[in-house]
Amino acid sequence: MFETIQQGLGSALKSLRGGTRFTEANMREGLRSVRRALLEADVQLDVANTFVTRVEEAALGREVLKSVRPSEQIVQIVYEELVNLMGPVDSSIRLNSGRPTVLMMCGLQGSGKTTTCGKLARMLHSQGQHPLLVAADLQRPAAIEQLKVLGEQLGIPVHFEDSKNPVSVCQNAMKVAKSQSRNVVILDTAGRLHVDDELMKELEQIDRKVGPDQCILVADSMTGQDAVQSAKSFNDALELDAVILTKLDGDARGGAALSIKEVTGVPIKFVGMGEKLDALEPFRPDGMASRILGMGDVLSLVEKAQEAIDEEEALRQQEKMERGKFDLNDFRTQLERIGQMGSMRSLLEMMPGGLGNMLGEDADPEQELKRVRAMLDSMTPHERAQPDVIGASRRRRIALGSGVQPHEVNGLIKQFEQMRGVMKQMSNMSMMDRMKKLVG
Ligand code: GDP
Repeated sequence: MFETIQQGLGSALKSLRGGTRFTEANMREGLRSVRRALLEADVQLDVANTFVTRVEEAALGREVLKSVRPSEQIVQIVYEELVNLMGPVDSSIRLNSGRPTVLMMCGLQGSGKTTTCGKLARMLHSQGQHPLLVAADLQRPAAIEQLKVLGEQLGIPVHFEDSKNPVSVCQNAMKVAKSQSRNVVILDTAGRLHVDDELMKELEQIDRKVGPDQCILVADSMTGQDAVQSAKSFNDALELDAVILTKLDGDARGGAALSIKEVTGVPIKFVGMGEKLDALEPFRPDGMASRILGMGDVLSLVEKAQEAIDEEEALRQQEKMERGKFDLNDFRTQLERIGQMGSMRSLLEMMPGGLGNMLGEDADPEQELKRVRAMLDSMTPHERAQPDVIGASRRRRIALGSGVQPHEVNGLIKQFEQMRGVMKQMSNMSMMDRMKKLVG
C-alpha cells in the first residue's frame, strides 16, 4: 500500500540530500517535487498546495537551525505536517451509559459498508460490548442476507424485517436493543452508486427520527478524490462524526487518507486493511506518516505481533534485534509467526528496513514468502546463524535445494544484513531520528 506516494515523496526528499546549506532555491525545488508527489498520489489540489505552503512556512521559521542538514529539516517538517494533516484522531467509540449508543453507518454501494458494520461489531464485541446489527440497507438486494451471514459468523444478533421502510426498521431495532440489553446499535443504512437526493433524504430521515449518537461514513480509499468528494457531500447532509476508510490494503496512492480530514474536517477513525472481519485498525496518523516516508510502521507491527506472539519470546527476539544478534534462524521463526498473523503484504510493509521491498511490485506475497522460506530451509542451522560463511559453493547448493538462482540467495542475505543493521541502529533512537536515518 501507498507505494506511489512513498516513491514520490522519497525521491523528492532524497533530491534534497547532500546539500549542506539550506537555501531558498534548493528548498523550493524540493517542495515542488513534494507537491508533484502529492498530486500523483491523488491528493486534492488545494490540500497539496496548502500542505506545501505549511511545510515552507515551517521550514523558513526554522532556518536558524544551521547545524541541521536541509534534508533532515525538511523530512522532519514533512513528517510533522503529514501527521497534522491526518490528525489528531481519537479512535475510541464513545458509548452512552444507561441507553444504547446508536451508530449510523452510511456510504456508497461497494464502499465496504456492510463488511465494516460486521468488523465494527466484532471489535466492540471483543471489547466486552453487546452490539446489535441492523439491516437497514433496503436498496441493495443482497445486503440483508450479507449482514445476516456476518452476524451468524460473529455470533452477534442481527435485526432485520421484510419491510420497505428503513426508518421503521431502525425504530423497531431500538426496541429490540432495549429488550435484549444490547448497548450498541449499528445501523447498516442504504447506499447507492452515487450520492443523490433520494439517498440523502432517506438518510436524513433516519437521522431525524432515530437520532443516532454518531454518524460514520464508510469510504473506499481506492476511489481517491471521489471518496473525498462523497465524504464532503455526506458531511454536508449529515454532519459526520467520523470516517472509516476501507481497502487501504489495496491503495497504492493514499490520496483519500491524506485529503479527507483537511477537506471535510472529519477525522478518519479506523481503516479497513482487508476483507476479513478482523482487518479493521485504528487510524494512526503518525504510523501512517512514517509508513509514507518509508520507515515502516513499527508500532502497528508490534500491536499485531503482540496478538500472535507470546510476550517472553517477543522480548527475547527484540533483545536480539537490539544487540544485532538476530540471525537467519530467528528470521525463519519470525516468518512462521508472520504466517499466522494475517495478510502477508501488509505485515511485511510494516516491517522497518523495507522488508516489504523484498517483494516485487506484482509479486504474490505468499509465493514470495514460500521462496524465502525455501532458501532458509536449504541452509544449515550454522549457515543461518552465521550467514558470513555462505560463499559461492554454499550459495549454489542452497539455490539448488530451494529452486532459485544463486544471486537470489545473495539478495536475501544482503537484504537481511541491511535490515538487521537498521534495526540495531534504530533500537535506541527516537521516532524522528529513526526516520531521518532512513530517509535523510
Ligand atoms: P457495501 O456495498 O458498501 O455494503 O460493500 P460490501 O461490504 O459488500 O463490500 C464490497 C467489497 O469490498 C466486498 O468484496 C468486501 O469484501 C470488500 N471490502 C470491504 N472492506 C475491505 C477492505 O478493507 N479491504 C479490502 N481489500 N476489501 C474490502
